Amino acid sequence: MTPQAACDETLLGGKGASLAEMSRVGLPVPPGFTITTQVCRAYLSTGRTYPEGLREEVETSLAAVAEAAGKTFGAGPDPFLVSVRSGAPVSMPGMMDTILNLGLNDETVEALADRTGDARFAYDSYRRFIQMYGTVVIGVEHALFEDILDEAREAAGVDRDDRLDADALRAVVARYKQAIETDMDDPFPQDVHDQLWGAIGAVLESWNNPRAVTFRALHAIPDEWGTAVTVQAMVFGNSGDNSATGVAFTRHPSTGEKRVFGEYLVNAQGEDVVAGLRTPDPLLPNGHQAGRSMSEHMPEAFTQLVQLGDRLEAHFGDMQDIEFTVDDGRLWLLQTRAGKRTVDAAIRIAVDLAGEGTIARDDAVLHVDPSSLDKLLHPSIDPDAKRQLFARGLPASPGAAAGTVVFSSAAAETAMGEGRPVILVRPETSPDDIHGMAAAEGIVTTRGGMTSHAAVVARGMGKPAITAASAIRIDPDRRSMRAGTVTVREGDWLTLDGAAGEVLLGQLPMVQRPLSGDFATLMEWADGARRMAVRANADGLTDAEAALGFGAEGIGLVRTENIFLEGDGLQVMREMIMAPDERARRFVLERLLPVHRDNFVSLFEKMAGLPVCIRLLDPPLHEFLPREAAELDRVAAEMGLPADELRRRADELHEINPMLGNRGARLAICYPEIAEMQTRAVIEAAIIAGRRSDAPVVPEIVVPLVAYYAELRHLRERIDAIAADVKARHGSDIKHLVGCIIELPRAAIRADLIAGAADFFSFGTNDLTQTTLGISRDDAAHFLSRYLTEGIIERDPFINLDREGVGEVIRMATDKGRGAHPGIVTAITGEHGGDPESIAFCEQIGLDYVSCSPYRVPVARLAAAQAAI
Ligand code: PEP
Ligand code: MG
Repeated sequence: MTPQAACDETLLGGKGASLAEMSRVGLPVPPGFTITTQVCRAYLSTGRTYPEGLREEVETSLAAVAEAAGKTFGAGPDPFLVSVRSGAPVSMPGMMDTILNLGLNDETVEALADRTGDARFAYDSYRRFIQMYGTVVIGVEHALFEDILDEAREAAGVDRDDRLDADALRAVVARYKQAIETDMDDPFPQDVHDQLWGAIGAVLESWNNPRAVTFRALHAIPDEWGTAVTVQAMVFGNSGDNSATGVAFTRHPSTGEKRVFGEYLVNAQGEDVVAGLRTPDPLLPNGHQAGRSMSEHMPEAFTQLVQLGDRLEAHFGDMQDIEFTVDDGRLWLLQTRAGKRTVDAAIRIAVDLAGEGTIARDDAVLHVDPSSLDKLLHPSIDPDAKRQLFARGLPASPGAAAGTVVFSSAAAETAMGEGRPVILVRPETSPDDIHGMAAAEGIVTTRGGMTSHAAVVARGMGKPAITAASAIRIDPDRRSMRAGTVTVREGDWLTLDGAAGEVLLGQLPMVQRPLSGDFATLMEWADGARRMAVRANADGLTDAEAALGFGAEGIGLVRTENIFLEGDGLQVMREMIMAPDERARRFVLERLLPVHRDNFVSLFEKMAGLPVCIRLLDPPLHEFLPREAAELDRVAAEMGLPADELRRRADELHEINPMLGNRGARLAICYPEIAEMQTRAVIEAAIIAGRRSDAPVVPEIVVPLVAYYAELRHLRERIDAIAADVKARHGSDIKHLVGCIIELPRAAIRADLIAGAADFFSFGTNDLTQTTLGISRDDAAHFLSRYLTEGIIERDPFINLDREGVGEVIRMATDKGRGAHPGIVTAITGEHGGDPESIAFCEQIGLDYVSCSPYRVPVARLAAAQAAI
């Protein structure tokens, strides 16, 4: 155990650490103590035994806390009740268990009733305790308790628990205890110490319940961490109409607006809010539930909540998500953590906090998860689209999505496996639905509120969600749903407008939002903080335009193979391949030269002086020939050639393993005329584009798949010679650069020598991963998923750079290259160039720039800034 003053989240869990920190700075927190995550690890790894001395320490701490409160654990006249709460080092909302009102038994419940003069409250607490303990610790079905409670409500003629009187609740308690005894052959434990240890054990065990295990797998949280257990004095939100429990965000979690946002329930306990079973009221009036907001009903507690929220924000430097309880008019804070938010909100909050002087600009840059920017670049519903409303609900998580309807998480998962986009529709979601929610494009629930499970989880996942769409009636047997007179069946299309809370019929067209305002401000700050440049991989004008729009500072890679496919390019390419000798090939290539040149001129002009790096043809030639026999016959007829001849040439070019075959530098050596034509086109285009504008163009030519120094030297000599010839003919003295793609381990090993012939190195990490690991990038999915589930690897190396392997190869090549050629420019151009963690590694080893797909450019700009801060 650790004293409350220490605030280490890895030891105390997020909840324990935040409570400790809040109590340290004098905020109103119920007293308690935290059992560390170390205990969890020891308990689970030693066959469920506690470390020596733990029992004594817990009992002593409990007695001390009870004494300080002037109460007694397990006895009257003022019985001490506690909550036993789970708390992982990072937030795992609702995934593990918590027990409230522990310490009640047949005697202490009477003492509590006497002391408070409120038997209804005492029995309500006891009934809640038995239900939670019965479900979580003893393992009785939740439904058994819910059925008894339903019957009690029906017998009393009321529709809500808080309208059951003391006698009714006393009867519920008796029936609960009876049900447990019948079901488990054991009575409900009356010894409060047995209760305590039962609860501690169950909370520790809940680290390994299936929900928690799935959540950890989805969020890459290590299994070894374990949960802490906080034992804390109870405060009661259910002790009458001057009591309440709720959740408050210090700013709006969807928009980021600086205004407290949240919900509360009068005369209730915490689980009622998150469970979504009773519809909570808002903290501030929202025009719908007049007179019921917290600011109107409990103005003093509300004002205090807002003030404490401000203090917490200032202290933690971030928007907070606060759990609170009002116990007979007195406000208590039960938890605070950085609130989950949409990406729009994250950006606005970061910019506002910096503007308000709460955090520095660099901190604002660190506040936004780069990967979440992806969602901003996602489309929204075309404003001109005709909307047909099916149902309306609460705008729980913004964004737009379309998909076909499914009614179960299992169906959502199946659909994802088949690549079908779906909308998951449920009465409400529970942590068991986490897989289905991850698989769906968007979520609709017919119950719940803005802080229900579905709302919180969807916001965290960045998916649109609409909750409390209460007009929808789901018919699970028919796998359909109805709202008014309209019926929607499983498989029908729906579109969600999360920000408006609208469920729309059909599949509506989407458009891209403009990126400006706070986004632009944050990006400007990020650009000011980063060291590495960010370029884009772009094959044509559309890509280049997108890249510029997203703030790319150049093009890091033009894969020229697409240019060969433009217009009748494929036809000409095939003629070139079929040509009998080099002379004939050169003749045909003359026709491709203008196409290449025009392409490069427009690219250079579009990029207006920003660097553009063009790669010589990389793929093996047989990729340009038809594969199917019928297609081959058709092409032969078109070319006026005998089909046999084409087949013979295709056979000649056929390779068993083309990825390791005649491609890249090898192709340029075996078919020099192709590289020559491309070089000529690049240099001519640069001269033309340079003359048309004030910005000088410095073209970069990169040779792929280099293994030997001699290869690059040989090709560089030719490239330089052609460039010199073109420049002389045009009377131009522009500069050009020649580099190579390092995507073979041998090139990395010989990087010192190779650097002698290169102006720059570009790490092609797609191929470098393939060639270093010896794993085919096209076949990896079949078996890497097994490696991931077996825990042999933690990440897919084709998505997150394998730092220890491929990363070390890059580091070595960079060091060797710089050693031999100080100032050589180094860059990464594989898919990893858009992955924040891989970008952090590039910063670590000091690469000059990253290049990624245009849509990842903002992600890379932010990630590069964060890595540099
Ligand atoms: C690479 O291999 O990382 C690369 C940039 O090129 P390609 O993906 O075209 O092989
Ligand atoms: Mg490559």
